[in-house]
Amino acid sequence: MSGKQTAAELAYLTRALKAPTLRDAVPRLAERARDEAWTFEEFLAACLEREVNARNTHGGEGRIRAARFPARKSLDEFDFTHAGSLNRDQVTHLAGLDFLTEKRNIVLLGPPGTGKTHLATAIGIRACQAGHRTAFATATQWVDRLAQAHTLGALQDELRKLARTPLIIIDEVGYIPFEADAANLFFQLVSSRYERASVIVTSNKPFSRWGEVFGDDTVAAAMIDRLVHHADVIAIKGDSYRLRNHDLGRLPHPSDQP
Ligand code: ADP
Ligand code: MG
Repeated sequence: MSGKQTAAELAYLTRALKAPTLRDAVPRLAERARDEAWTFEEFLAACLEREVNARNTHGGEGRIRAARFPARKSLDEFDFTHAGSLNRDQVTHLAGLDFLTEKRNIVLLGPPGTGKTHLATAIGIRACQAGHRTAFATATQWVDRLAQAHTLGALQDELRKLARTPLIIIDEVGYIPFEADAANLFFQLVSSRYERASVIVTSNKPFSRWGEVFGDDTVAAAMIDRLVHHADVIAIKGDSYRLRNHDLGRLPHPSDQP
């Protein structure tokens, strides 16, 4: 076969395999293979590796889009010196994603602007890139979604479906207090995942105030029990990163409220 014919054949075959990265990689890899006297097997492995890497990244992108993160954030952009109380090693370890296989949870607590959503998103993006489906929403959005399923008589189906998503992120527990029905749905969400699949929860309220959030100390206690039984609970202290360059005097602090 002439070089031209081979090129046409490769174009056809890579199209049939839906492998455009492989098509683009072959000429350069073939040149390197000749220069560096690779074995046939080494050449084939190098070609396939390009395609597999591209597919993994694309799959990751698809999962990141599907997860509906509010913004794209990474741990590299996170300034640990600002979040002084935060244990960097603990966060780095969590980003290694062992917690997902162990079906453990992460709870991030702290005042507004201290990076809770940033960290939850960064870990979630890592999970997507590593092949784990992830779903991000605020506590209110999760409850709305479950309430809708409940109205359609499909709550258990929805919870079962969600239990097959290896990671869900529940952001902003506590900004808005829940009615009794909503609190009950939220409780079901947390308990349906207990020891089955991981949750990352963020909240601006310490656990001691979750009774107010859920309008019921017993429901709150039962929920916290399931959530933290196998969990890393990380309390971030400090001032809002959003306001770091403003001199606003002393801001109202959630724990100042009666
Ligand atoms: P929270 O969810 O705790 O209210 P966010 O995670 O939304 O706070 O953080 C608010 C903004 O400040 C975001 O744009 C976030 O990326 C940024 N931010 C917060 N903490 C840090 C930090 N330590 N380093 C870098 N950026 C940060
Ligand atoms: Mg937030």
